[in-house]
Amino acid sequence: MRAVVTCESCGLRQEVARAIPEPTTFHIVCHRCELSLLVTVTEADILTAAASVAAGAARR
Ligand SMILES: [Zn+2]
Repeated sequence: MRAVVTCESCGLRQEVARAIPEPTTFHIVCHRCELSLLVTVTEADILTAAASVAAGAARR
């Protein structure tokens, strides 16, 4: 899945383009203000992402 994180400081939206197969937390650094942002991926997030991927595939 792709996580999208909005920076708490400058509001920049950043896509985390990495495979996230299971619930986890990690940090990324904002590209604009270099604030360290905690990203939390829950099982619900992964299920939602999987469902939207499946919906996108069905549309094609
Ligand atoms: Zn920022």
